[in-house]
Amino acid sequence: MIAPQASAESVPQFAQVAIPIHLRKLFTYRVPASMRVSIRVGSRVMVQLGTKSMAGYIVALLPRLRTGTSLIESEIKDVQELLDVDPPLTSEVLELTRWVADYYAAPWGEVLRAALPAGINATVEQTISITEKGQREIHNLAIDDGKHRALSLLENEGEFELNAFLLRIGSSRTPRWLPELEADELIERRYRTRKTATRAKHRRAVRLLRDAGISSEAGRTEAQRRALDVLTRHGGALAVASLTEQAQISDSVIKTLIKNGLVVEFDEQLRRDPLAHASLPDTDQLALTSAQKTALHSIEKPLAEGAFATLLLHGVTGSGKTEVYLQAMHRALELNRGAMMLVPEISLTPILSRRLRAHFGDQIAIFHSSLSKGERFDEWSRLRAGEARVVLGTRSAVFAPVKDLGLIVIDEEQDSSYRQEESPFYHARDTAIVRAQKESAVVVLGSATPSLESFHHAQSGKYQYLQLPDRIANRPLARAELIDMREVFARHKKPVVFSDELLEAMGQTHARKEQTIILLNRRGYSSFILCRSCGESIDCPNCDVTLTYHRSDRTLVCHYCNHRQRAPSECPNCSSKYIYYVGEGTEQVEELLRKRFPQMRIGRIDRDTKARRREFEQTLLDFGNGDIDLLVGTQMLAKGHDFPNVTLVGVVSVDAGLALPDFRAAERSFQLITQVAGRAGRGDLPGRVLIQTYHPHHYALRHATAQDYRGFYDEEIRHRSNLGFPPFVALALLLVRHKDPARARTIAQQLRNFLAEANRDHACRILGPAPAPFARLRNEHRMQILIKSRSRKQMRAVIDEAMLKFEEAGGESRMISLEIDPVNMM
Ligand code: ADP
Ligand code: ZN
Ligand code: ZN
Repeated sequence: MIAPQASAESVPQFAQVAIPIHLRKLFTYRVPASMRVSIRVGSRVMVQLGTKSMAGYIVALLPRLRTGTSLIESEIKDVQELLDVDPPLTSEVLELTRWVADYYAAPWGEVLRAALPAGINATVEQTISITEKGQREIHNLAIDDGKHRALSLLENEGEFELNAFLLRIGSSRTPRWLPELEADELIERRYRTRKTATRAKHRRAVRLLRDAGISSEAGRTEAQRRALDVLTRHGGALAVASLTEQAQISDSVIKTLIKNGLVVEFDEQLRRDPLAHASLPDTDQLALTSAQKTALHSIEKPLAEGAFATLLLHGVTGSGKTEVYLQAMHRALELNRGAMMLVPEISLTPILSRRLRAHFGDQIAIFHSSLSKGERFDEWSRLRAGEARVVLGTRSAVFAPVKDLGLIVIDEEQDSSYRQEESPFYHARDTAIVRAQKESAVVVLGSATPSLESFHHAQSGKYQYLQLPDRIANRPLARAELIDMREVFARHKKPVVFSDELLEAMGQTHARKEQTIILLNRRGYSSFILCRSCGESIDCPNCDVTLTYHRSDRTLVCHYCNHRQRAPSECPNCSSKYIYYVGEGTEQVEELLRKRFPQMRIGRIDRDTKARRREFEQTLLDFGNGDIDLLVGTQMLAKGHDFPNVTLVGVVSVDAGLALPDFRAAERSFQLITQVAGRAGRGDLPGRVLIQTYHPHHYALRHATAQDYRGFYDEEIRHRSNLGFPPFVALALLLVRHKDPARARTIAQQLRNFLAEANRDHACRILGPAPAPFARLRNEHRMQILIKSRSRKQMRAVIDEAMLKFEEAGGESRMISLEIDPVNMM
């Protein structure tokens, strides 16, 4: 038979595979004849890389090798195994991950792995064993033949993991005769997931084949009759386990019924539903306020037109943004398109999940970080199959396989948890905008305190600007007041953690049977110097960020440009001798409060307790139920939660946040205070916010207490422009890690030289190398280089050229990570 010309052209001979390792390249494998029909782009395969078998993702199939390739055809290895019949990756997700890999200079394989639910990616191992045919034919082989040795080993000791087997026969690579044994069916190769991979869950069930009334037919035993009755009562089908229990019968009764053709056995697919037993809130259709209506109409317009648009929805906390998102999502579904809502890690509370489930029922899939792998897999599968059309999730849900995506909502778009802080570094908000553009969808960025970048784009007209200026029912926002700790210090003649004003307010709040949140804005690692008399910290003369104190050699260091100076013994600003290192921990603060208010029930939440997730959730629930009077915690308490009985929020040390050596320190502090103010007085009771600071005239604090976003923006954007920070320049951060500090410095310097060489047009400013803010982490020494440029394209060209030269010179690229658009400069 002669195959038609066209199909011979399209028969896949080679596969390009992205493998999740640190190398930014694709690998080519030959598609064996047996797989040519079923292999698809987007499926996972097992391939050999070096001596290891690894799972990879097919990103392209080729009828022949590309011309000009350096590959030698005879050296190309076969794809070992095809792992999927239905590709888990849609063409949209492949496209998007390709963009992410490109833009963030990340290995495509790593991005693909991040895009799929954990569990589907379990590591796979190969085992080999002897077949029956092998056992028969072993005697026909010569004893000194390698094949004979291998077969006897398998016969005597049973199944082997491939690498263990190779070790045993003293071979470092797969010997040529192994595939021959396999081709002759003398041995068998199997793929096993090391950690059991997550898949759909099934259970045995039976179904009636004939109609009702059969249980009373003659010839039935009593047990058979009971079984048939129970089945009929349950609509004709039931899991085997339930049937044996309810009808009080043994398995053999069911076997007989099957044999007699009365019932048939089938595999029932179970759905692991994270909200199976949750009680859901009511979903009254609220009559929208006129501001909400205007916002909704602006979203609906491009949605109905099928056009790409990005809108910034700027609304104070409690202004009804979520209601607008919900109705816009309903609108997308009515237009027969899918929808996605991304939320920051911390705010994907049980409350929000239930609220959305109540609205969208089975149409919604929820990706929650405390789901089991099984639940996550099932939720993902329902989207992939098109059974669910809406997804609610955190960062990685941006890659969810939503069909015909029409709308993406990003709540709290300024939140830094949208940035993945490990490879592949990507920003879910920016990725979502690109996804929307590719799929002609609408993006709504929602926030009470938009990021400087997003507001800047709204100003320039790149995004459409929508506003909800007032709280629903005109509930007042909490008043924020600054407490000047310099005065408190002067009064007490020694540094104190709590001002009298804040202590008094805590007592009063408790007396009124209302609740308090005490917030410590401190991350526990940054040491810096602050003057208790004038409130100034000491900044870098070049970078305008706070210098970090290094205790070991009593120096102050800039983590951007490596400027160093000796720690002074008196304040350079006011000559006071009361300069001080900042930092109290949540535990000490909790202790202090317990002593001061023995009758109060006090709870604590911080990073340590967050690791113990159950305890963390229980504390929040207890606080919500009123079983805790006062909650102490870090900034994670500032976001999202809605506790109507909280009327006092105290911020103990806002200065620690202001002084972080990060150009976004002021922006973060402004956002924090605005969010905190949104926590107090959510219900009908008025709220009060007290902020302790040594720096009451700082512009971020002034504008935050006045609730003046615009005032803050205008001032901050000027700084960014003057000092050359985003959104006016593109940033990249190169981090060098090494166990040996001298090596780390040498590598960083070498890299810097290559960068300087590639920067011949002076398109970039290259700062550093300087020690990273965590100069030593997990026993590795860390040096960083910061690169700024007004041209993103030129910046990438410079970095790519320098990295290439570095690798060609034998540099260890494994020791280097590159972050494009870094968010957390810490
Ligand atoms: P945000 O997301 O901006 O913080 P929400 O959408 O959660 O605000 O709304 C705050 C509160 O106001 C919620 O309890 C919500 O049910 C209620 N709400 C929102 N819109 C309306 C409306 N149009 N009429 C009455 N209540 C509303
Ligand atoms: Zn001073
Ligand atoms: Zn500096």
